[in-house]
Amino acid sequence: MQKVMKNLIGLQSCDLIIKRINDKKKKWPVKIQNLENRLKMAENRLKDELNHLELFKLEKREIELKVESLEGRTEKSNIKLSAIKSNKEYQAALKEIEDIEREKADYEDKVLEVMENIEKLDKEYVTSKADTAKLKGEIQKERDKVIKEIKALDKELKIHEKERTLFCRSIDADLLKKYDHLRQNRGGFAVTPVINGVCGGCNMGMPPQKFNELICGDKIMTCPNCHRIIYWGEEKRLKDDVDQAGMSE
Ligand SMILES: [Zn+2]
Repeated sequence: MQKVMKNLIGLQSCDLIIKRINDKKKKWPVKIQNLENRLKMAENRLKDELNHLELFKLEKREIELKVESLEGRTEKSNIKLSAIKSNKEYQAALKEIEDIEREKADYEDKVLEVMENIEKLDKEYVTSKADTAKLKGEIQKERDKVIKEIKALDKELKIHEKERTLFCRSIDADLLKKYDHLRQNRGGFAVTPVINGVCGGCNMGMPPQKFNELICGDKIMTCPNCHRIIYWGEEKRLKDDVDQAGMSE
């Protein structure tokens, strides 16, 4: 019975390692996905900034055209002015020129404002562009790291899967079925020690008679509460094996 129990404990320890490796493997794609989401956001921001920049440049060009057209009108009005004879007409033409000049000055102020915006946005765009390129580099680096890491984990997994096969071969088929069923339904823990009369899986105290039977160790027993396969955790020979197998993790 000791030997059967030892194999079960060995199998449990092996399965815990396999689970840990698989959990680690699952974490990597999530990390990459998060980085890629960040990149997508950065790229979208960059596109927005560029669009804004283009709009401002277009606005600047439009205002400049208006200023040019106003300049043309001023010129024409000045020519007209020199040909005017009556004072009334002269005053009216002067007023027209004044109005045009005022309008032109407003547009020139606006152009300055737009140019300031362009300058500010241009700076932001350069920074964003550099940030995005940096992020892209980081992702590539991280991707390379993940590929390497997964390769190493796969190698480790292979070793433990082989070990698992060996343990499975040495355990009776019905018991193995029971073990696998428990493992799937008890959070990966199918085998647990009972220490000081308490089940390590569910923390319930064992009835004294059951605990005595467990100490005798002549049959495979289960916890009456959580139904996990139990062994006497203070049994010296089993305990040493468990410590070696790293069950404390
Ligand atoms: Zn229990």
